[in-house]
Amino acid sequence: MVKERAYAKINLGLDVLRKRPDGYHEVKMIMQTVDICDELTLEKREEPGIALRIEGAGLPADETNLAYRAAALLAEEKELREGVSITLKKRIPIAAGMAGGSADAAAVLRGMNALFGLGCSVEELKKLGVTLGADIPYCIEGGTMLSEGIGEILTPLSPPPPCHLVVAKPDIDVSTAFVYGHLQADKLAFHPDIDGMAAALFRGDLKGITDRMGNVLETVTEREYPVICRLKQRMCETGAENALMSGSGPTVFGIYTDPQKAKEGALAIEEEHLAGTVFVTEFYVV
Ligand code: ATP
Repeated sequence: MVKERAYAKINLGLDVLRKRPDGYHEVKMIMQTVDICDELTLEKREEPGIALRIEGAGLPADETNLAYRAAALLAEEKELREGVSITLKKRIPIAAGMAGGSADAAAVLRGMNALFGLGCSVEELKKLGVTLGADIPYCIEGGTMLSEGIGEILTPLSPPPPCHLVVAKPDIDVSTAFVYGHLQADKLAFHPDIDGMAAALFRGDLKGITDRMGNVLETVTEREYPVICRLKQRMCETGAENALMSGSGPTVFGIYTDPQKAKEGALAIEEEHLAGTVFVTEFYVV
């Protein structure tokens, strides 16, 4: 039996450089794992095939699930004769901009590699993972990374200084495809300073990091859902250094230096019913 944790990510910065002729968007993002995770348990079973069981969420456990698809891909690639049973305890909010599905797929690839002693390198797992989703290579390793290309070109960065985070997901589901589909990549008035943020991370300069937080996908999601602006505002009013939408949203996170203020910020958001799911957490440093 193998247990794996699948950590959620936030984007400290997210820029889109252009839409490529093949329809993919070229991105430049800073990814950071946070201490919110799904838990997976993987066990061998004699019959071939994949049995997936999900606890804590009403997600389909069939071949549409990214955890299932990752298991099927690795089983086919490595011509596995035995099957695998996977239990997925879901905690990461779904369709939230926190790469929950990608994190699960990455955890299945790591977990099956260990369970069956397949001896795949991290690079090999990343190559397989990217065929299922652009964020999966990042999720294989996690930590603080610069992510370029369609998300598959990864450069490790220094982790941010320890902070307290409020992560709030309003009760709306946002489709990543909708957000990218409505993004006018060639008409963006603002591009976050991703290189400057990478340098601030290297210096351990929290203000240099929080001053540069920016996400061009807010131009689409905030217009559609004003609650995102309201959440950012409420976090800043309660003492956050800065607040931002993660990925394609709708999750918003605020970075606090004072743990008490983070707790108060989370409470205010809950009491005002701005978000149905609120975490007080920290960065997860791998
Ligand atoms: P990203 O930040 O990569 O855009 P996300 O957090 O917005 O990801 P996910 O939670 O990964 O979104 O889910 C996106 C969609 O994928 C959901 O609508 C869901 O139905 C589907 N999905 C498939 N497998 C999973 C899984 N294991 N966990 C969550 N969602 C899954």
